[in-house]
Amino acid sequence: MLDDNTYMLTATALPTHTLNWRNSFAALGASFATRLLPTALPQPYWVGHNLAMAHELGLDRTWLASNDACQVFTGNRLLPGMQSLASVYSGHQFGQWAGQLGDGRAILLGELQDQRGQWQEIQLKGAGQTPYSRMGDGRAVLRSSIREFLCSEAMHALGIPTSRALCITGSDAPVMREALETAAVVTRVAPSFIRFGHFEHFAYTGQQAQLKQLADYVIDGFYPACREATNPYADLLRSVTLRTAELMARWQAAGFCHGVMNTDNMSILGLTIDYGPFQFLDGFNPGHICNHSDTQGRYAYNQQPNVAFWNLFCLGQALLPLVGETDTALAALEPYKTRYPQALLAAYRAKLGLTDQRDSDHLLVESVLKLLAKEHTDYPIFWRHLSQAVASQVKQAASTHSFDAVRDLFIDRAPWDAWLPTYLERLATRPFAQTAQLMLQSNPRYVLRNHLGEQAIQKAKSKDFSMLANLLAVLQSPFDEHPDFQAWAGFPPDWASQIEISCSS
Ligand code: AMP
Ligand code: MG
Repeated sequence: MLDDNTYMLTATALPTHTLNWRNSFAALGASFATRLLPTALPQPYWVGHNLAMAHELGLDRTWLASNDACQVFTGNRLLPGMQSLASVYSGHQFGQWAGQLGDGRAILLGELQDQRGQWQEIQLKGAGQTPYSRMGDGRAVLRSSIREFLCSEAMHALGIPTSRALCITGSDAPVMREALETAAVVTRVAPSFIRFGHFEHFAYTGQQAQLKQLADYVIDGFYPACREATNPYADLLRSVTLRTAELMARWQAAGFCHGVMNTDNMSILGLTIDYGPFQFLDGFNPGHICNHSDTQGRYAYNQQPNVAFWNLFCLGQALLPLVGETDTALAALEPYKTRYPQALLAAYRAKLGLTDQRDSDHLLVESVLKLLAKEHTDYPIFWRHLSQAVASQVKQAASTHSFDAVRDLFIDRAPWDAWLPTYLERLATRPFAQTAQLMLQSNPRYVLRNHLGEQAIQKAKSKDFSMLANLLAVLQSPFDEHPDFQAWAGFPPDWASQIEISCSS
């Protein structure tokens, strides 16, 4: 283990402004993490910045563009006040208990307070080996780092809870995956990267005092209302259950597949974390498997809500020594069954432009999804075309002709022709302007489709980072029109379906 003096020796000069680091996770103690230094990468260079995130963290943009900051966010230098560490956790992977895992290539630098006063953990991914690397090299490749960087920000702009990304640096240092690639480090930001697997770790190793310490840390830092409950730990489980249910509803409505919903990739704060073989659906195929390593389809798109519930049971099992009775833990998980469908219906109501609620709305949603599933209709384009058709009704008299562009998305038009009147009837009582506005704010024009990420990656591999920067900017306001980038709102090219995304990253 390292002491603070070690850090001071490697600390670089202060940036032009002082950063006030807090290290509350490090303060939990040696059972929770190993203090270590990142491993330097040779001749790092900037790949991408997220100035919006930098602004939220109060980071000076001139400093962020500097070589000094490039060294810091590659893990080659530390700033005074950082206490870098890798945390230990365990987890269930693909339904099996996997034992100890931990941050095998992620290194927490400390916490910074953002402009809203919220402390945010700053973590490097790909900054070298740790005691938890197992067989891994501690590195991340440019390809997967770009995907994580873009998707974190795309999800945030869609209003979906997620870890964020501040920047990416690269190095020509070779990294072996299926082929030889090069190294990159992505700097991730979240109030906490604590996972269900952290709790499983202390429960399975019988470290009851640490289990309680961790639960108290999470309650005090992130779920203070649980303290007021008769059983704060049961209330923590209930609160995480509700947040997870809401997250799943948001993923499903957005057509987002995570790809590796192991319990070590489930955030205790209900955030989307650990972007790997994720994918936004092109065509609406409910059974779509985005992860080529997932041969059984355990994490297929339509399995995600059930898997999240299964993962919550693992969390409940881990918290049991604190919760007390099994029945109490089961009762804390129960609200998932109502909150998930409620939140899903709410998300689809917004996509359909419905601002009031009717009992029959779920039928309208189910029937439209059935329509899309039948021909694997392009999911983002369907919703955006529908929104535009409704918006055009604001200007002219209601006519089904405005929906021709949507109708043209189907080969068999009869089911669509049957569905549309039911929908228009449901909309009839609404002011169309309000409906259209809601739809245009709920159905993005731009989605991080696999092929867009792939194109940005190919350019970045030849050191052209312009598409990455432009794509980030477009994805940060996905509901707006970006006339210069119309093509990115279009159908995926034929080769998109051939892209194979595996766990390899
Ligand atoms: P993931 O499926 O990416 O969430 O990874 C599962 C576990 O493997 C986590 O504990 C990671 O930190 C670890 N891991 C994945 N890739 C590497 C790598 N290249 N080097 C070290 N550890 C890794
Ligand atoms: Mg992970």
